[in-house]
Amino acid sequence: MEKITYASLSSLGDAFHQDFENAVAHVTPKLGRSHPLYINGRKRITKEAPFHDFCPANAQKILGTFQAGGREEARLAIRAARAAFPEWRDLGWPQRVSFLRKAAELMTERQYRFAALLSLEVGKNRFEAISEVSESIDLILYYCQQMEEHEGYEQAMGGSGGERTKSVLKPYGVWAVVSPFNFPLALATGMAAGALVGGNTVVFKPASDAPLAGLCLYETLHDAGLPVGVFNFVTGSGQAVGEELLVHPEVDGFVFTGSKKVGLHILKHFSKNQPRPCLVEMGGKNAAIVMSSAHLEDAAEGVLRSAFGMGGQKCSACSRVYLHKDIARAFLDLLVEKTRGRKIGNPLDRDTFLGPLINEQAVKTYERAIQLGRREGRLLHGGQRLMDEPLEKGFYVEPAIIDRLPKNSALFQEEFFVPLLAVAEVKTLAEAIALANQSEYGLTAGIFTESESEQDLFFANIQAGVTYCNRAGGATTGAWPGVQSFGGWKGSGSSGKSALGPYYVPQFMREQSQTVVKKIIRTAPPRARGGRDLADGP
Ligand code: NAP
Ligand code: MG
Repeated sequence: MEKITYASLSSLGDAFHQDFENAVAHVTPKLGRSHPLYINGRKRITKEAPFHDFCPANAQKILGTFQAGGREEARLAIRAARAAFPEWRDLGWPQRVSFLRKAAELMTERQYRFAALLSLEVGKNRFEAISEVSESIDLILYYCQQMEEHEGYEQAMGGSGGERTKSVLKPYGVWAVVSPFNFPLALATGMAAGALVGGNTVVFKPASDAPLAGLCLYETLHDAGLPVGVFNFVTGSGQAVGEELLVHPEVDGFVFTGSKKVGLHILKHFSKNQPRPCLVEMGGKNAAIVMSSAHLEDAAEGVLRSAFGMGGQKCSACSRVYLHKDIARAFLDLLVEKTRGRKIGNPLDRDTFLGPLINEQAVKTYERAIQLGRREGRLLHGGQRLMDEPLEKGFYVEPAIIDRLPKNSALFQEEFFVPLLAVAEVKTLAEAIALANQSEYGLTAGIFTESESEQDLFFANIQAGVTYCNRAGGATTGAWPGVQSFGGWKGSGSSGKSALGPYYVPQFMREQSQTVVKKIIRTAPPRARGGRDLADGP
């Protein structure tokens, strides 16, 4: 099976659509089954009543039934991961890389099936779904490549006399991997691959809205031949499984992607008694800026895709736009016209741009934000839940554009995670950048301008981890492994080192300095010049 690549994604044709439709037909009869936990390679059923995984396009359709794992199951999984750790660590990185490359190969064989399941489970359109699978594969491959290029992160250091010193990065032990619903395969795969290639074992808890995608990852790693206990799959709530992972002393590291509220909670509690590495990637309130010299067609296309792609449910979604006053009217006319032209509907359909939101709660959040928008500004487009046949059983809403808002409106501050774009006019770029930076978040940002000095000013001053200029493919969205490193500043991320980039993998390891002294025949007494003893340093 040929892998779909970053380059080929933009030119998918009839063959892709046929393969996708075949995959939907293939997975459909298998939906609705009951799934166990997988701890130490064994299936486990819990005493608690299981929970259902619903299809957001039709909330009456059950995609699968999953175990409501609790604290006990989390503890069992931690024990299994701990027991599997020494063997996985001692295997060495070349072996671990070959296991993971095998997993990437299997995921490639399964790419259409996984895309069909993502579409069903979280409502991604065909392109978004296949692109998430392709990204997952590239995440594994990129992190393997990093390990190879750095030869396992072992390097010779300086030294004198008979001293030989190496710096060695070693795994910590057991890592908790907790993922969100919106990129349920790619983010789980990326975090897990980082931990695993670094030599750690994993307890993985998927989001309760997307356990099927998590199961795809588990089965892929299992079929790649990972030794038992190296990767354990524990579904269940954040309150139970998540909290146990957080307080258990035998978890050595925690990697999380999700909301700021949960991320901060994890960050505060994980190191309560002992310092432990904790990588949390959180939400965003991502701004785009459109200046008077901008190519308006590109700007409107880029903002539309980033604001409304996947229903605004990307951490990188563009949820506010600052428009130079001279082009504001023309830009908004274009944006509204383009938005009207995009089809809302069943994400499995070929021409659908926008599928459903993830759940009823998200629709409520949308309605609350719309109410606020109507009160404080002008609703330029959208604002309705779609209840007519054939959408009435799903969580469908119209993309919304709201302007004439006060600049301190909550619509410019809060992450709603729905397809809603807040609009404000500005007189200068300095004003736009100041407004964009006036946020607790700092994940992504974009600008459209033909002026080089404006581009420079933007890149020099914008406070965000991922930045773009003149990108019609996505004003603030669409990062790719090995191309755009992806991590948040300020309230959007804890480490300052991004996923998808060159500094990610080493975060799952700790450094050890190893000095060996070889006896040498000396003619002078064993003192360093100047009388300083060689062991006087820190
Ligand atoms: P969420 O509600 O924060 O949940 C994320 C994960 O944390 C889920 O697996 C959840 O489990 C678990 N969890 C909940 N409470 C927990 C606790 N007390 N202890 C440990 N784990 C707990 O986020 P979401 O709604 O799934 O995803 C959307 C959010 O993720 C948005 O804010 C978005 O911006 C952010 N996000 C950020 C990035 C990034 O790279 N920066 C990427 C994607 C998404 P349950 O599902 O069982 O509650
Ligand atoms: Mg679901």
